[in-house]
Amino acid sequence: MDKSIENEGPLEENPPAGPTEGSLSSSSTEQRDKMFKALKEDPDGQHAYLMKNACVHCGLCADSCHYYLSSGDPELIPAVKAEKLSRALRKEASPFGRKKDLLGSEQREALFKAAFQDCSLCGRCTLSCPVGLSTRRAMYAARTMFSSIEDLPPGLDGPVQTALEVGNYIDMSTEDFVENIEWIAEEVGEEIEIEDLSVPIDKEGAEWLYIPHPLEARDYPMLLMAVVKILHAAGEDYTFSSHAYDTANYAFYQGNRENTRRIVKRVLEGKQKLGAKGIVQSPCGHGYRVMRWEAEGLLGESLDFPVLTMSQMLDRYIREGRIQLIKDAVEGPFTYHDPCNIGRLGGVIEEPRRVMNAVTSQFVEMEPHGVWNLCCGGGGGLAATADYGQKRVQAGKAKADQIRETGAKIVVTNCYNCMTQVRELNKAYELGIEVKSIVELVADSMKT
Ligand code: SF4
Ligand code: SF4
Repeated sequence: MDKSIENEGPLEENPPAGPTEGSLSSSSTEQRDKMFKALKEDPDGQHAYLMKNACVHCGLCADSCHYYLSSGDPELIPAVKAEKLSRALRKEASPFGRKKDLLGSEQREALFKAAFQDCSLCGRCTLSCPVGLSTRRAMYAARTMFSSIEDLPPGLDGPVQTALEVGNYIDMSTEDFVENIEWIAEEVGEEIEIEDLSVPIDKEGAEWLYIPHPLEARDYPMLLMAVVKILHAAGEDYTFSSHAYDTANYAFYQGNRENTRRIVKRVLEGKQKLGAKGIVQSPCGHGYRVMRWEAEGLLGESLDFPVLTMSQMLDRYIREGRIQLIKDAVEGPFTYHDPCNIGRLGGVIEEPRRVMNAVTSQFVEMEPHGVWNLCCGGGGGLAATADYGQKRVQAGKAKADQIRETGAKIVVTNCYNCMTQVRELNKAYELGIEVKSIVELVADSMKT
């Protein structure tokens, strides 16, 4: 982490050794200028400038935020987090403000914490704001500021560098990826009794390019086996790519649009090389959101092909009769957790519910759900990093309570990070549940 910017107070985990208040070096000033320039150029930065004057401090956003709901700490009310940035922007605009006072030690520390640790960018508070303000956008803009001077939580730094250098954030070689897919093909072939089951890699002209989460290929092959089983049963024309096999894009959570764009480009290169007609993504909330809703803005061009997440594919297969299910083959009761980036911020609400109702008669909704679903606490890049483990489990208490109230034994979702976080909530709050991907649930319910 770069801690050289002016007058640093101690951060919780990484006490810095920077200059003291009033002894700013010219490079510190340079860095500060960079942060504000980044903010001004960023679309969400523009929203932050709007928010500094438009928030009427009504407090209606308080009960929207799972951090506040889980702790009751007023510092975790969305508008209070946004105020940490607004205060700096007001100082910046004041003719009496001294430049050196902008984002002094304590303010900067508080803003860093608010942006990276205390906001999962879930967007729920925006729904409650009578003025239409978005603390999510303000906190994203704050991330952009820190990203411009490469001051990032370690968990959001190294993996992105790896993704930019080698094409996937876990540094899995192409040979290993291909070998793992071949092994998965053998395993699924054995299970469904098909000798030499074909699992295409780099097939040209396929209908769909499937972009997996790299951890599925390396650490949790059961998830990818379920995908292969379903795609095969549906008679899908699909392929994997040996060039693009990482659906995640943690640069998005850095607040670094250039890095995000470079990772998006890698996926698009994979698609172009093979001439696939569309992209289908493994269960991954932010990966879907970036490719479906952010990529066009990042690239400055329209993408005239479909981008789907797996719950949409499953819904399509079931409705078209391309896969046959045995209803209630798996014992429930079940509930479904909407990943924020796929539900509220991605618009995929009805599809997973149709899937759930097709596989079970024991589906119980959490209240609230869908657009109003509570974040599990693992969004914003928090579940993927060890940096803020304890805080994110605390922030997930509201979700844990919500799950417990359903009486469900199995929590189903469509995002790798949500699965990780809900499993941690299960341990921490002794929920006694199992966590499944919607893909696994469908694969387990299929007629063989
Ligand atoms: S975006 Fe989500 S986590 Fe961030 S302040 Fe709003 S409700 Fe809380
Ligand atoms: S609901 Fe909107 S206007 Fe009210 S305090 Fe929250 S951000 Fe400000």
